[in-house]
Amino acid sequence: MSGLLSIDPARALADPASAAIAIVDSLSRNLAAEQWFYGQFVAALLLGLTIDLLRRRDLVSRYWSRSVRVDAVYAVLEFLHLIQFAVILPVGLFITRGLQVWAPWLEVTALAQLPVWAQLTILFVVTDFCVYWWHRLQHESRIVWQFHKTHHSQVNLNVMTTFRATVIDRIVAFAIMAVPAAMMQVDAALPVALAAVLQFHQLVIHSDSGWSFGPLDRIFVSPSFHEVHHSSLEPHLDRNYGGVLSIWDHMFGTSVARGDQPLVYGLVAERLPEAWLWQQATPVIGLWRLFRGRSPAAETSA
Ligand SMILES: [Zn+2]
Ligand SMILES: [Zn+2]
Repeated sequence: MSGLLSIDPARALADPASAAIAIVDSLSRNLAAEQWFYGQFVAALLLGLTIDLLRRRDLVSRYWSRSVRVDAVYAVLEFLHLIQFAVILPVGLFITRGLQVWAPWLEVTALAQLPVWAQLTILFVVTDFCVYWWHRLQHESRIVWQFHKTHHSQVNLNVMTTFRATVIDRIVAFAIMAVPAAMMQVDAALPVALAAVLQFHQLVIHSDSGWSFGPLDRIFVSPSFHEVHHSSLEPHLDRNYGGVLSIWDHMFGTSVARGDQPLVYGLVAERLPEAWLWQQATPVIGLWRLFRGRSPAAETSA
């Protein structure tokens, strides 16, 4: 095994200095793969701008709005890798390798023998299934929702909204990508490659393009499908949870059609302060209100 998942927590605890060197080495090697992320981001941003021009939107009022500037802060932090390096990767590595060391009975060894394409396909379907159920829990549990509502607080949906999320949300998202790969003993380079492809899809489905894939919407999450998930209109609440595959929503009865009404994005009954730090503190404030019984009645989802 190589790359992101190469740190053994048991050995790291015994020899922290060598482990620190190994972590830095592992991260720097994986940075090469990150070049894909930069290229994709620029391509998706240009695509988003083209869509806005075609839709005759006022680019200045859209992109210079405070909420989109806050999304730009999220995007810059994402591409500086500050939070990933400081929090998400170390915690994610600890969780995934910890599970391998301390819960080896979770491991599925059969996949390592399969061809790469078969490993990737199985990993993709299993990961996307986990994404669906985690996303559903994020909306259906009022506790977990406190960590997710930041993503839904954007009223000007745009490509950079992909990164609008709390750090805790990001850690879990990383774990959902990494844990199935670690458990299946899939080569670590594969989940990185998979994440690179999936990120472009994530960026495009936040572009507010209204694009549907037609009949393929029954299988894949299109921009239109995910825009409905961000809609605060009543029929759209807590629907269309899929990550890449929409089949889970059709299978488990959580899909809804777009309808004719123009979509309204954002939370139903509240507006979060448009400041990165405030939005990171949102779960703490939300949980405090929840446990003191002061949660707004309508604050269930968006
Ligand atoms: Zn959501
Ligand atoms: Zn989204």
